[in-house]
Amino acid sequence: MGLKNLLFDKIKKVKTNRKKEIKENLWIKCDKCHEISYTDEIKKNFHACPSCGYHFRISGREKIDLILDENSFVEIDKNLTSLDPLKFRDSKKYSDRLKAAIKKTQINDAFISGAGSINGKSVSIGAFEFSFLGGSMGSVVGEKISRLIESAIVNKNHVITISCSGGARMQESILSLMQMAKTSAALKRLERSGLAHISILTNPTTGGVTASFAMLGDVIIAEPEALIGFAGPRVIEQTIRQKLPEGFQKSEFLLEHGMVDMVLHRKDWKPTISKMLDFFG
Ligand SMILES: [Zn+2]
Repeated sequence: MGLKNLLFDKIKKVKTNRKKEIKENLWIKCDKCHEISYTDEIKKNFHACPSCGYHFRISGREKIDLILDENSFVEIDKNLTSLDPLKFRDSKKYSDRLKAAIKKTQINDAFISGAGSINGKSVSIGAFEFSFLGGSMGSVVGEKISRLIESAIVNKNHVITISCSGGARMQESILSLMQMAKTSAALKRLERSGLAHISILTNPTTGGVTASFAMLGDVIIAEPEALIGFAGPRVIEQTIRQKLPEGFQKSEFLLEHGMVDMVLHRKDWKPTISKMLDFFG
């Protein structure tokens, strides 16, 4: 009898778990307009809300796939990992945080890079993975961005970067800040080679990433309503002792003030970039 009850309980648990899973996966509630839509419908709409256009957060790899021709992405520098040179620890060891992030995301650091094609035209492309320690830029991310640019120069490709980052990685201190100069210097070499850098800023792009290569795009594209800035609004308000205007640090505000060149829905990324590549030659 006991065994029977145990089995029954187990079956019941599996059933409710499955029900919950289906319920959660079938529909998604929009964070902005609270409209509930089918997950499939949202996917077809490039992971944006069909009612209000709100862009749901997606992985770096998904962003790359939205731009490139199907199955054309070839990843490079996949195995680079941080050596934790400062043996840093706060409430947890940095090495443990890294291990957990690698396990969670199945990638070795917060940037995925490689090459692929857009309507048959070859490009070098890289994207941040926000779920890996807030997409922070440490020595591995900076190295991967620089190597991406260098491989683009060798292969005569234009470069596309897709940012989504909280900024420099605190746990690597000055070594993280150094990546700002390193990636910017690599872009200067790209410019000298006559190749273009298209920078896409997604929600959120802040700190040392904004203050270096991400704002050095020959063309800067922002995702709608993305938070883009250097320091957060609270820090700025406390520093300058002034109230900040409405929508400050949002894509649309930055477009009005000349900080970005265009605000583009994800569905327009590929066709627009494809036209740019034709123009750049
Ligand atoms: Zn919505």
